Amino acid sequence: MTERIIPIADNRYQQQIPHVPADAPAPSGLLTDRRGRRLHDLRISVTDRCNFRCTYCMPKSVFSKDYAFLPHASLLSFEEIERLVRVFVAHGVEKVRLTGGEPLLRKNIERLIEMLASLKTPAGEPLDLTLTTNGSLLGRKARALRDAGLKRVTISLDALDETTFRRMNDVDFPVDDVLAGIAAAERAGLAPLKINMVVQRGVNDQEIVPMARHFRGSGHIVRFIEFMDVGASNGWRMDDVLPSAEVVRRIHEHHPLVSLQPNYPGEVAERWAYADGSGEIGAISSVTQPFCGDCSRARLSTEGRLYTCLFATGGHDLRALLRGGHDDAALSAAIGHLWGQREDRYSEQRSRETAGLRKIEMSYIGG
Ligand code: SAM
Ligand code: SF4
Ligand code: SF4
Repeated sequence: MTERIIPIADNRYQQQIPHVPADAPAPSGLLTDRRGRRLHDLRISVTDRCNFRCTYCMPKSVFSKDYAFLPHASLLSFEEIERLVRVFVAHGVEKVRLTGGEPLLRKNIERLIEMLASLKTPAGEPLDLTLTTNGSLLGRKARALRDAGLKRVTISLDALDETTFRRMNDVDFPVDDVLAGIAAAERAGLAPLKINMVVQRGVNDQEIVPMARHFRGSGHIVRFIEFMDVGASNGWRMDDVLPSAEVVRRIHEHHPLVSLQPNYPGEVAERWAYADGSGEIGAISSVTQPFCGDCSRARLSTEGRLYTCLFATGGHDLRALLRGGHDDAALSAAIGHLWGQREDRYSEQRSRETAGLRKIEMSYIGG
């Protein structure tokens, strides 16, 4: 008999129902944490499964075929997600991102999109609803996603070079199929697209300039992301991080860049435009230039735990409230209390010691 692999983030099963005082009041309106940061964005992991095994996210050594992914009954249902999103929206969330794992693996994801696309903010605006995907299933699904009400999509692509890309996704997935997914998304009207590239020194940094060149003039925005110490299984070392400043320097050497103002205060990506007007790129420097000071993001895990930071070691079980028959006022009270207590600023405090903490895996918490 094969040994059952215990998930490395097994502490997820031991987390408790939110310790919300019984008399916590249900807040009304916008929520602000202890550092004065508003709750504005919600990222929802709709599945902890993925068809890729990116070495920096779900390495095969941990996420093997014996890995115990969550059983279906543990996942939040679409109705449960919608109910939570309604409560979050009442408290200031305007932007919702579906992620995972690979969100397009979740059966009937189009139905969830349809449900969320019909929600409105208190000001009567539709939500800014988007999704991050590895692009492998977009060729088949882009049109249906758009028809369901999705407006935008972010696609991850770490290299154009076939050998490098296959080595990174570690399931031999061809670049051309992701490029076909990108083209399908474009045809379906999901453009302008954002293309995420996680840069690892010595692994794919030779692909920075080719990626910039390939998407220059396409209207799509490549965002170069510093490799982060998320989770507890990707073997992160500071030496593997190529600072964004170096990414920008390398591109600028070939295609001169000029700095752009952020689209809105607290935008995560630093914006750069090609001086010749052929488009823009983004640089996300979570390691070398942390942006915790403006962080307005909450994360809902696949099984309904609320995390107030990507690097959290513990989350709060909202599913227990949903399934325990509690009303929306109780959900509001829990969310309000948890956000009100929030002090997270992991990236600002990152050190050799924090890198070794048993943090929750990104595929579970939602990237
Ligand atoms: N499977 C989808 C995808 O790959 O786009 C969505 C989930 S994935 C966890 C979301 C994003 O997180 C991807 O763009 C991925 O490249 C990024 N990511 C994963 N692990 C990372 C790490 N260690 N450092 C930086 N970004 C990471
Ligand atoms: Fe899957 Fe996305 Fe993680 Fe790659 S980054 S293993 S595609 S969840
Ligand atoms: Fe936000 Fe935590 Fe990332 Fe800081 S480290 S930007 S608080 S998610």
